[in-house]
Amino acid sequence: MIYSQQYTYDTREELLEKVQAAMSEKRFRHVLRVEKAAIDLAERYGESVEKASIAALTHDYAKERSDADFKKVIVEFGYDLDLLNWGNAIWHGLLGAKLVEKELKITDPDILRAIELHTTGAAEMSLLAKILYVADYIEAGRDFPGVEVAREIAEENLDDAVAFETQHTLEHLIAKRSPVYPKTLATYNRWVAKK
Ligand code: GDP
Ligand code: FE
Ligand code: FE
Repeated sequence: MIYSQQYTYDTREELLEKVQAAMSEKRFRHVLRVEKAAIDLAERYGESVEKASIAALTHDYAKERSDADFKKVIVEFGYDLDLLNWGNAIWHGLLGAKLVEKELKITDPDILRAIELHTTGAAEMSLLAKILYVADYIEAGRDFPGVEVAREIAEENLDDAVAFETQHTLEHLIAKRSPVYPKTLATYNRWVAKK
């Protein structure tokens, strides 16, 4: 795929090489499946296929970075120091977007925001952010109870798919007594409780 000029990389292959170098083969295959799901959703819901491709290929770019790396990013770029109390699950998207910007030179604000929000969602999400959030959940390699329903809903109504995913993620976190990041709760209030 040839990318248009505003996207830093001339071709998908050029970006793919950088992404592959940053992660295990297993995670790279997940990223490729998320890209496929994101492109399908982009075509269905009228988003740019290029933006969907770039956001999906880079969404887990930072997932294999050390905790020390993320702590450095929090301090160096002036993020809220409360973030130090969270972990990789929350850091890899929120802070990963900063590393994607700095290291991969991706500048599109909508793409960077979608990467930031891909794990937690948010009350306000762009079409691209919803697509990435849902694509990551329904990609063809996912195999958990309810994923088939999630895939069917995603073909019908993207907002309903955001709600379904958010409800099930929250149920999962609560069942494990895991801490819930405030943004995840805000996503629940907006998209599930429709407050
Ligand atoms: P992945 O990077 O492709 O594995 O997928 P995600 O980025 O969507 O999710 C990473 C992990 O974060 C998953 O195990 C989610 O259950 C978890 N997660 C999502 N929201 C929260 C939250 O509010 N708190 C915590 N502790 N974990 C969360
Ligand atoms: Fe992720
Ligand atoms: Fe992912």
